Amino acid sequence: MRILPLESGIIYGPLYSRRLDRSLGLNILPTEYKLCSFDCVYCHYGRTRVKTLTPEGHDFPSVPRVLKAIQKALGRYPNVPYLTFSGNGEPTLHPHFPEIVDGIRRLRPTLAPDLKLAIFSNATTLAQPRVRATLQHFDAPILKLDAGDPETFTAVNRPAHAVELSDIIAGMQGIPNLIVQSVLIDRTDGEVSNIQEAALEAWIEALVILQPSHVQIYSTDYPVPDAGVERVPPYKLQQIAERVHDRTGLTVTPYWL
Ligand code: SF4
Repeated sequence: MRILPLESGIIYGPLYSRRLDRSLGLNILPTEYKLCSFDCVYCHYGRTRVKTLTPEGHDFPSVPRVLKAIQKALGRYPNVPYLTFSGNGEPTLHPHFPEIVDGIRRLRPTLAPDLKLAIFSNATTLAQPRVRATLQHFDAPILKLDAGDPETFTAVNRPAHAVELSDIIAGMQGIPNLIVQSVLIDRTDGEVSNIQEAALEAWIEALVILQPSHVQIYSTDYPVPDAGVERVPPYKLQQIAERVHDRTGLTVTPYWL
């Protein structure tokens, strides 16, 4: 089994992807461990060592340090289309996430006027008005939704204490340019998966409520820490994409390597 190494700094890439073309990765999380409010069964970084919604006291890079690293990277790659918050866990857990976004918006006109902002987030902090307000500034807010019912949500995302699926769905409503990203998995060990019929239906119902601009579906691309997790094959992702589109009219794109 191969677990991906954590990012060792603040900036990584540029990375190339079908979704964001070329993008500089931004890691505003600790570099020694994964810090997240989820412990997804398919996470390519392995198990979550620090699983929390209240991350005070952890080793986050300071706002000036993050902005300095961005300034330097944009000096080197002034034409990169996207700066993407992702990295070693959940980026919105940085206690000064809004200040970092404000700082980037101040730097942008002189350093890279065409730079767009993207984020991969699990949406667990959207009950906080300051985080919700900050997400309005993103061109591509790519928010995770792997389940539409609490049982599947708990089995797949293994959330931190006090994280509720209903809060996540409520928080995602009304986010401009919302892109939902869902990782679909099967199980070989009898545990709950999110492609079982009832789970899939509940997830589709949640998408109907959210009305995202785009739904991106994936399965696992790499071996994952939980041996019972199985990849959903491309033909099945395609079938699910077509089913969701036919039912909801939403734009759904399946991705695979
Ligand atoms: S939300 Fe992302 S980083 Fe956190 S456990 Fe899930 S896959 Fe890993």
